[in-house]
Amino acid sequence: MTARLLDGRALAAETERALAGDVARVVPRLGMAPGLAAVLVGSWGPSVTYVRRKAEACGRVGFRSEVFSLAEESTQEAVEVLIAELSARTDIHGVLLQEPVPAGLDARAALARLDPRKDVDGLTAVSQAALLAGTPGLRPATALGVMALIGAAGMDPAGREAVVVGRSLLVGRPTALLLLAAHATVTVCHSRTPELARHTARAEILVAAAGRPGLITGAMVRPGAVVIDVGITRRDGRLVGDVERASVEPVAGALTPVPGGVGPMTIAMLLTNTWQAFRAQVLGEEAP
Ligand code: NAD
Repeated sequence: MTARLLDGRALAAETERALAGDVARVVPRLGMAPGLAAVLVGSWGPSVTYVRRKAEACGRVGFRSEVFSLAEESTQEAVEVLIAELSARTDIHGVLLQEPVPAGLDARAALARLDPRKDVDGLTAVSQAALLAGTPGLRPATALGVMALIGAAGMDPAGREAVVVGRSLLVGRPTALLLLAAHATVTVCHSRTPELARHTARAEILVAAAGRPGLITGAMVRPGAVVIDVGITRRDGRLVGDVERASVEPVAGALTPVPGGVGPMTIAMLLTNTWQAFRAQVLGEEAP
């Protein structure tokens, strides 16, 4: 058996096509396009690339995008003032602060200045509380991308054993909460979990989000499992995931490649969130 490869690029392109169609139908009537603002502090290479990709993706679906680049040595106050200004602008419907921010800055505190209706990364305390409580709100894009890929594998999480490796606020925790909301039985593993394989071997859905290349090997995977590899690490000039593809592919039922798996879906879900934020703000629709 060989795992089916889940093509994140194709699924993201399909999502964007559908979104572009909705935008083309609604926006001319309103005379206003969704606006996404990205705040980038400093010039760390991967962050510059991610912000550029997000801006390009906006162009593909008919959104306006604005990128605000602040100097590496910016003060906390400067970042917070900018976020508050963007939060107040009526032509901006989504705001993201690209992470990681330089040492000495507090991204959470800066996001406290953002209107949760514009929190398209789902990282404000209000959005996180809504995710925990299962009430409407914007959810973190990567976690939404993981869920979409699990769906694309034909897997309904209800009643399934799901194991998430990683407990970050950005990826691991929100993914675990979305799986729980979808009625999976969820185990969250992290760097202090002994005998990781004892947990992963049970997983019908395995999400690897540790940022440790090759952490998940074939011997740790339940035959037929849906394996979602969130990890992205640059090694010898190329991007690698947390899953050792050569040993996992013969065991898993479905597997996301790196690159071309979760990454493109994260961007597609950011666009989806921005569209929902726009509709909530401009059309007065219910939050998602
Ligand atoms: P993080 O460093 O904040 O968190 C990593 C988590 O993995 C921690 O909870 C840690 O306890 C756990 N961990 C580390 N080593 C472990 C080990 N040996 N065994 C078990 N658990 C271990 O990172 P993050 O922001 O959550 O990102 C995780 C990975 O996902 C990174 O590689 C990042 O680049 C990638 N990422 C990808 C996307 C995407 O769109 N594909 C988006 C965000 C992050």
